[in-house]
Amino acid sequence: MKISDKARQQAESCRFCWMCRHVCPIGNADGQERNNARARALMVSYVIRGTEKLEDIATNMYECSLCGACANNCKTGWDPRLFIQEVKTQIILEGKEPEYIRKLLDNYSSCGAVFGKMDKGAQQLLQKMQEEYSDGKVLLLAGEMAVNKDAESLEKTLKLLSKGSESICLDKSADNTGYSLWYLTGKTKETVECARKCAEALNKYEKVVVYNPVELSFIRHEWKEWGITLKARVVGLNEELLDLINNDKLKVRKSDIEYSLQDNFAYARELDDVTSGRQLIEKVGIVKDMLLINKEANLAGQLIMNEYMPNTMKLVAKNRWMNAMNMGCKTLVTENPDEHVLLKENVPEGYKVITVEEMVLDNLA
Ligand code: SF4
Ligand code: SF4
Repeated sequence: MKISDKARQQAESCRFCWMCRHVCPIGNADGQERNNARARALMVSYVIRGTEKLEDIATNMYECSLCGACANNCKTGWDPRLFIQEVKTQIILEGKEPEYIRKLLDNYSSCGAVFGKMDKGAQQLLQKMQEEYSDGKVLLLAGEMAVNKDAESLEKTLKLLSKGSESICLDKSADNTGYSLWYLTGKTKETVECARKCAEALNKYEKVVVYNPVELSFIRHEWKEWGITLKARVVGLNEELLDLINNDKLKVRKSDIEYSLQDNFAYARELDDVTSGRQLIEKVGIVKDMLLINKEANLAGQLIMNEYMPNTMKLVAKNRWMNAMNMGCKTLVTENPDEHVLLKENVPEGYKVITVEEMVLDNLA
């Protein structure tokens, strides 16, 4: 198996402290010993030594959400996502991917999305939004997850942003950052090509507001590493909303409603931003924190994985609800479409989940 020296070194540098064992949201959901960073590294080193076959560890690589909770806790300071993504590339190049991954890649080839064909309602809504918001200097980079699975939230975001800034638009040629292809295949020629095409489309705009922090992190880190640069100014949705509120372009009222932020791992750990979501809550209500917050935040769901391991994703969302319920948090505010969709699908009676933009929209003066 061909992986870089750095990835190999990271897979083999474990000190067996087991600090990663209790933090993996997937292992915590399905109770499987193979679902933590240490176990994944061990499997990779077995393949390197020739005692295990690549195809036999493929499923375990696709059971990782890349949430980085393990890296945040690892005493050796390593990041398992490095070898996991390189191993995925090898799996794809050698044609050893599990059938369910092949199906998602076939969807991508035939419909341009790993999720396959969109349902009719979502398709019509998207088309309506594309027509209504077809022209502007500021682009909302909706991203693959929101476009395919949470179009209603996008509609609310466009409504809100258009109240605050004069020219917001959607552009379907700029919606595919290459994230899902990267998640499934790692850094392949096709992934980099897709990212480059998206960057070209983004550069037609003065400013780009990225809806999904996971894709914002992908642009800031992976794109940069691949030498893909942007002329357009790129900001996250939280930053844009705060800016509009602070500059009185969006007027909000403060109430005594308690909101609990579901920190998204990309904002909290990869973009080092644990404040923007809470600052937005403070503008309109009161912050009530749940268990495991800021950099210790737990994943609440991942939509690509939901396509092939829905039962585990259900348990991941339920575990997160448990963290909220234990602290009496009634209304969760999400920063990412994956977590919004999956927390909503598994919402306990008497509880509520809304997006950051929905919260602001509900509290306009
Ligand atoms: S990145 Fe997240 S899902 Fe993957 S091994 Fe680490 S903690 Fe588990
Ligand atoms: S936290 Fe790091 S060093 Fe400790 S067991 Fe996990 S992978 Fe190994």
